[in-house]
Amino acid sequence: MTARQLLGPDGPLARGIEGYEDRTGQLEMADAVERAIADEYALLCEAGTGTGKTLAYLVPAILSGRKVVVSTATKALEEQIFHKDLPLITQHLGLDPQAALVKGLGNYLCLRRYNELRTSSAALTDPALGRSLPMIEAWAERTETGDVSELSAMAEGDPIWREICSSSETRIGAACEYFERCFVTRMKRDMERARLLVVNHHLFFADLALRAASKGPGPRVGALPPYDVVVFDEAHQLEDIATSFFGTRISRARVEVMLRDAERTFVAAGLVSQSSGKGGKRARSEGTRSLLPSVTGEAAVLLGLVAEAAEGMFARLAPLAAAGANAEGKVALAPGVWAGELLDAYHGLDTALDALRSYADAKAVTEPLRLVATRAELLREDAAKIVDPAANQITWLEVRARSIVLGVSPIDVGRLFREQVFERVGAVVLTSATLTTGGAADFRFLRSRLGIQDRDAVRVDELTVASPFDHAAASLLYTPSDLPDARDAAFGAAAADRIAELIAAAGGGAFVLCTSLRAMHAFAHALRGRTPEPVLVQGAAPKGALLARFRASGDAVLVATMSFWEGVDVPGDALRLVVIDKIPFAVPTDPIVVARSAALEAAGKNPFVAYAVPQAAIALKQGFGRLLRSRSDRGVVAILDRRVLTRGYGALLLGSLAPARRTDRLDEVRRFFSAR
Ligand code: SF4
Repeated sequence: MTARQLLGPDGPLARGIEGYEDRTGQLEMADAVERAIADEYALLCEAGTGTGKTLAYLVPAILSGRKVVVSTATKALEEQIFHKDLPLITQHLGLDPQAALVKGLGNYLCLRRYNELRTSSAALTDPALGRSLPMIEAWAERTETGDVSELSAMAEGDPIWREICSSSETRIGAACEYFERCFVTRMKRDMERARLLVVNHHLFFADLALRAASKGPGPRVGALPPYDVVVFDEAHQLEDIATSFFGTRISRARVEVMLRDAERTFVAAGLVSQSSGKGGKRARSEGTRSLLPSVTGEAAVLLGLVAEAAEGMFARLAPLAAAGANAEGKVALAPGVWAGELLDAYHGLDTALDALRSYADAKAVTEPLRLVATRAELLREDAAKIVDPAANQITWLEVRARSIVLGVSPIDVGRLFREQVFERVGAVVLTSATLTTGGAADFRFLRSRLGIQDRDAVRVDELTVASPFDHAAASLLYTPSDLPDARDAAFGAAAADRIAELIAAAGGGAFVLCTSLRAMHAFAHALRGRTPEPVLVQGAAPKGALLARFRASGDAVLVATMSFWEGVDVPGDALRLVVIDKIPFAVPTDPIVVARSAALEAAGKNPFVAYAVPQAAIALKQGFGRLLRSRSDRGVVAILDRRVLTRGYGALLLGSLAPARRTDRLDEVRRFFSAR
């Protein structure tokens, strides 16, 4: 059977699900995916909201009988595919997907690290560990998967998880005494047996980066098994995610975790003895842990040397950010920065890491000791890559209240993407509701960013499937022309007043999507007390909890930034108004944006036209897409930035959006809501 027969009006889904609506666009997409897999070429498919794109790629993927990787943007979306869409296929279509849900190593409990931590002196002396460990112990005894998503009682971002999770740096593999019981071993065996792997983009690129860095023959730890087909859902995010994985970064936190692990390994091997254990207590009370070891003995001296050298280098870097960082704490570092005291500090770290590596190598009678040597060497190599970056890379520094990160990122991921994805894997499907810009199914921006603009180099088919929703009847786009320019100081207060008026017209049920944290806090502050509806603010609770409260309330107002612009699904009346404060241009001072703009300029292109505007169009389309999530949804999207009306690029931005009715009159918005 073909996917069209299974998903079509006479197929088992239509017979099995009451009220099932077969969708022309879904069938068209399923045909295109089927062809791309069979003939092994790339397909770019924009599928509007409500197309049913997940089934349109899953069914052909399963029917193909090939080994397929389905990669999506987040772990939550992975789980949705695995726990919701695949069971539906099994139940109604009688297909066996032979699927495995695969997450990055950092999601799984590492039994070796966990047991090392439990038996360390810190477990007795550190009050934070004393609070978290019993809960983890109870869970570790009953979990079948070791997946942290089951550990709902643990606070998001609890630092203890970083010390007991698996990672490519800390996983030993077959020589580990826990190997047979290990959750990662189980996950990897499932992955080998499966035909369909459901992963997320971070894992996909981590695997690709690992493979790219692979030296010599033989399989690499953490690599996905060979596959024939890859399907990227939410493919508009690929450039950003690939950028972070094809780069290199070192952070104070990474040094800290490596030193803690090394210390525990040395204690377990009897190479150092516990001192009074004050290190843990002192560290927690200061908010940031000290890197200095809490042990004594020969190896402790080496740990102390690495700690001091790392602190020395980070301390000399911090003022560089203070001088020129943007609002996100990020600053580009010029190649000449590595000179004088800073270069000496880097050499100090390099020497200390080398000494730690040779010591651990010499003592390496156990796998954990060998791992200490490997991690010290990896850190050393990564630091060297940052100090002496390759061509096509930008070096940057990010300093926040409790973290400092130093990294290099590729300026152009297009070539890497083409070589490592399109030219390596036969069939590649990229899909999302937002891949094109402008109103004419224009994939040129995506193609240029992913290195496939040359139509002769890689065979690529394109398909645009419109949303089956009647946007003109169901939605109104409000673009006021009477507010101050979005860059004017008067904009904030005027926009807050207008948001309050819009919320009053809708009676709540609103997302206020902001382009900066500062605007988010200002609007939230201005709205409290002015609207009778509850005002929820991003960050006040975990994202899932905020959304649950928003849905349950029915009339709430949620003020948020970019993390709520996409991947958030609130069908029904609880969300009937989406307000967007400004055009979501990328932060122009971000070092990577600056470097990409300079590269385009050097190639004779206008970076604003070729990069900033299309990128903003896709982000705007994502925000706009929050409104209509089902056929019966109705509502208003308000874009308060009048540049969509007054600037030349405004036509492209508005032309990228679904065809809602448009108005610049507030009374029409009021009429829309009172007529509902
Ligand atoms: S095999 Fe790796 S992940 Fe598993 S317990 Fe051992 S070190 Fe941890």
